[in-house]
Amino acid sequence: MKYSEICGVYEKLSVTSGRLEKTSIVSEFIKKIAKHGNPEWIYLLRGRVLPDYDVREFGISRQIIIKTLSKSFGVLSSEVLSEFNKIGDLGEIAEKFAGKRKQSTLFSSSSLSIDKVFDGLMKIFALEGKGSVDKKVSVVSEILSSASGIEAKYIVRTLLGDLRVGIAESTIKDAIAESLFPEDKKSYAELIESAYDLSNDYAEIFAAAVKGKKEIEKISISPGKPMNVMLAVKAEDIEDAFRICGKPAAIENKYDGFRVVISKKNKEIKLFTRKLEEVTSQFPDIIEVVKKNISGESFILDSEAVGYDPKTKKVKPFESVSQRIKRKHHIERLVKELPVDVHIFDVMYYNGKSVMHLPFSERRKIIEKIIHPEKLKINIAEQIITDNEKRAEEFYKQALKKGEEGIMVKSLSSPYKPGRRVGHMVKLKPSSSEFDLVITGAEHGTGKRAGWLTSYIVACASEKGFLNIGKVSSGLKEKESEGTTYREMTKLLKPLIKSEKGRVVYVKPKIVVSVTYQNIQKSPSYNSGYALRFPRITFYRPERSTKDIATLEDVKKAVVCTSFHSL
Ligand code: ATP
Repeated sequence: MKYSEICGVYEKLSVTSGRLEKTSIVSEFIKKIAKHGNPEWIYLLRGRVLPDYDVREFGISRQIIIKTLSKSFGVLSSEVLSEFNKIGDLGEIAEKFAGKRKQSTLFSSSSLSIDKVFDGLMKIFALEGKGSVDKKVSVVSEILSSASGIEAKYIVRTLLGDLRVGIAESTIKDAIAESLFPEDKKSYAELIESAYDLSNDYAEIFAAAVKGKKEIEKISISPGKPMNVMLAVKAEDIEDAFRICGKPAAIENKYDGFRVVISKKNKEIKLFTRKLEEVTSQFPDIIEVVKKNISGESFILDSEAVGYDPKTKKVKPFESVSQRIKRKHHIERLVKELPVDVHIFDVMYYNGKSVMHLPFSERRKIIEKIIHPEKLKINIAEQIITDNEKRAEEFYKQALKKGEEGIMVKSLSSPYKPGRRVGHMVKLKPSSSEFDLVITGAEHGTGKRAGWLTSYIVACASEKGFLNIGKVSSGLKEKESEGTTYREMTKLLKPLIKSEKGRVVYVKPKIVVSVTYQNIQKSPSYNSGYALRFPRITFYRPERSTKDIATLEDVKKAVVCTSFHSL
């Protein structure tokens, strides 16, 4: 199939706003792939060539694209840059140059195939290290050499991770259901969603769906691959927790570290964050402990790794242990300076089989059988089983006294539901005025902070997309030893810049931060309709994705709470 076909889909999507219309545009294209194509092309619809569980990025900056366009179209880099300053979209600039070169109309006679684009894009992941920029420029130039204007636009936008066609993940799920099972699309959409929670791979699901329902039902988790974890619902108090989980329930400490999914298959151990990122190489200490203290041929375990001070043995705040996730160098030194204690609290797969369908009480028995605890290295989450509110309250108090974040209350009879907040486990912790939010913009600093991006625009999630809720300029540090620095944040945000206006840059929403605030006000200044007063960044959350951030609903609830408290 020709690449121009998928570009036609992008063009239609970009001028369509209704979800149903978008679904039917995608569904028509999916029908064609089912007949003549490769299931992996489905990734291209969201500007990717890899399944969602594979978080590798092209690593192509705007500078690389400017260099490539200059080389491919024989124009000066300065000319590309000046066009960029006018238009703000390198995709459109590529379209303009490629259109001129080919003297082409909308879909010229380009013979570029989807295969060629897909394979070319895949090649980029292998290019690393010295000389990789030039190699990337060559690979992209080669793809662009036979592209029409429109094709060049979407190739460039795909490389920059900014397709600008407004296609949600859920549209892909609905479109697979609509294209293959038009007679019962609603129930198939649900089946596909559950399969997605297990595999994070629409191509795998699509390939199975083409063969029929049974094949979709066979999709499961497997060790060695990251997976979505089960999320907790918030409880107001112990009574509320029991109401949600039933009686008796299991009560555990809510350890304050970061979540690690530990997976083992064929003697190979891998570690993943809840954002599906692999962190195996950052934690050789956890790997050692898993080898030594957990029995089983294959497994997937859910755990919380908590950092502690090697001298005092006291728990360290999340910020310091987050260094362990971020740093890729000097790992041996960090292992000594910031050791972690792993608390295992669930099991999803054991010796060749998924055990997610088993009730929690049964899964806990597996954990107790296979984990061999060792102080300050690995242990099983401390747990009581009770139906007594007083006893639960006492456990909660003790947990807080020990410095834990709170407690988790878990339904004993429930299965493990990956990727969902279904109330099979609830969290209870003292209320705080804090949200996890995503950064959507920033300002170039001045004076002492010149050269850095400071003053971050933060947003919450909503059905309509991310909605801004404030601007936060305090909380980050100037010195590295004190936590995440402005310099570090600038480095993270720069490759994500989509456009600039004066001193303000707008970035792809990827970086999640925890933000505390004093209260929330209704405000027309931000498109959420609310503004945080006196916000402050407490932590950069490298292990969290935009799926984990506060929603507009959470904000509205917090407004009610804060106005109640200020009465
Ligand atoms: P929070 O910001 O309150 O930590 P969260 O967004 O990280 O919440 P939730 O799923 O809402 O995640 O809350 C549960 C989190 O608590 C888990 O993600 C896990 O990292 C952590 N946790 C600590 N101890 C436990 C435990 N014993 N059982 C389950 N989760 C635990």
